[in-house]
Amino acid sequence: MKKSILILYTGGTIGMAKTATGYQPTAGLLSKLMAEDRAFSHEDMPYYDIIEYTPLIDSSNMTLHHWNVLAKDIVKAYADYDGFIILHGTDTMAYTACALSFMVEGLNKPVILTGAQVALTEAHSDARENLISALLLASRYCFPEVAILFNHYLLRGNRAHKIDAIGYNAFLSPNYPPLAEVSSELLAHTHRFCKTDTRTLNLHKYKSVNLAHFHFFPGFPLNTLEALLNLPLRALLLQTYGSGNVPTEDKKLFSLVENAIARGVIIANYSQCLKGHVNMGSYATGQALQQIGVVSSQDMTPEAATVKLQFLCSLSDDPTWIRQHYGRNLRGELSD
Ligand code: ASP
Repeated sequence: MKKSILILYTGGTIGMAKTATGYQPTAGLLSKLMAEDRAFSHEDMPYYDIIEYTPLIDSSNMTLHHWNVLAKDIVKAYADYDGFIILHGTDTMAYTACALSFMVEGLNKPVILTGAQVALTEAHSDARENLISALLLASRYCFPEVAILFNHYLLRGNRAHKIDAIGYNAFLSPNYPPLAEVSSELLAHTHRFCKTDTRTLNLHKYKSVNLAHFHFFPGFPLNTLEALLNLPLRALLLQTYGSGNVPTEDKKLFSLVENAIARGVIIANYSQCLKGHVNMGSYATGQALQQIGVVSSQDMTPEAATVKLQFLCSLSDDPTWIRQHYGRNLRGELSD
C-alpha cells in the first residue's frame, strides 16, 4: 500500500524567494512548486500532506517553543502517517534534530529533517533532490529515529553537525556512519538504525535553562570563567582541548569549577575536536577535571551535548540524576 508522509514546513532556504532585502521565506511557494513538479506525484512517491507554519522562519530564529510545537504536532498526527519530514533551515537543523530525538519517547516511525543550501526557485538548487530523497527514504524504511537527509546521505540527527555554510555537503556525522545513502539505488544500512523503542509514545517538553559554554584557548583570561560561574547557571559546557584537557598550572581554575559543582551546577566536558571522544583519564590535564566531578560528553557532537543538557535540566532539578543520565546513551547520541 502507498505510504502517507506528513511534511512539517518550518522555513529555511528551501522555500525562500529573492526579495529586495535578500532571500526570505515565502508563504505558499513551496507547496505550489511541489504541486507543479511531476516527480512528487510519481507512482514511486508516497502521498504527502503539508503543514506550513506561520510565520515561516529562518532557522536562526528557532526557539524552544518551536521545538515543543513540532514535537506536539508529530505526536498528534502520529497514528495517521507512516513517517514525518521536517523542512528546516540548515543553520540550526542539527539542534532541532537532537531536540526531537530526546522529546519524542517511544518513536517507531521515521522523522527526517531536510532543507537546502540553494532555494527551490533557483536552477542549481539542491532542494528538489533532498526533498525527493527524504520522501523516498521515509516511505521505504520504517526506522525508529530522527534523521537528517542531506546531499544523498541519511545521518542520525543527534550525531550530525553542520560543517559547510555554502557547499551541498553541509552535514557530517563525525562519530557514527550514515544510516543510508541515495545514489542510483537506495542503500540502507539497517543494522545501524536504532532498535525498536518498546515504550509507549510519550512527549517531553523543553523549558528554558540557564546554560552556557566556555571555550578554552591559550591565554584565556580566568576572570571570564569566574564571571560566568558567578551567574545563576544550571549547567556549563567546557569546550576543552583534544580528549578533554585544560591547563593545570593555575589551580584557581579547579577551585572555581569545584565550587560550582558543589553548588549543584552541572559542568560537562566536550572537545574542540569533532571526531573521537572525551577521555578525561588519558592525560593529567584531563584527570584533574574528572577528579572534581566534571562529567564527560564522550563522543557527542556540540549540538547533542548542549541539547541533551537542556533536555535533562527541563526534566529534573536533581543534579545527581542529571549527571547520571548525561553519561547514558538515551537515543543513540553517544557510543556505548
Ligand atoms: N539561514 C538559513 C536557515 O537556517 C540557511 C538555510 O536554510 O540553509 O534558515
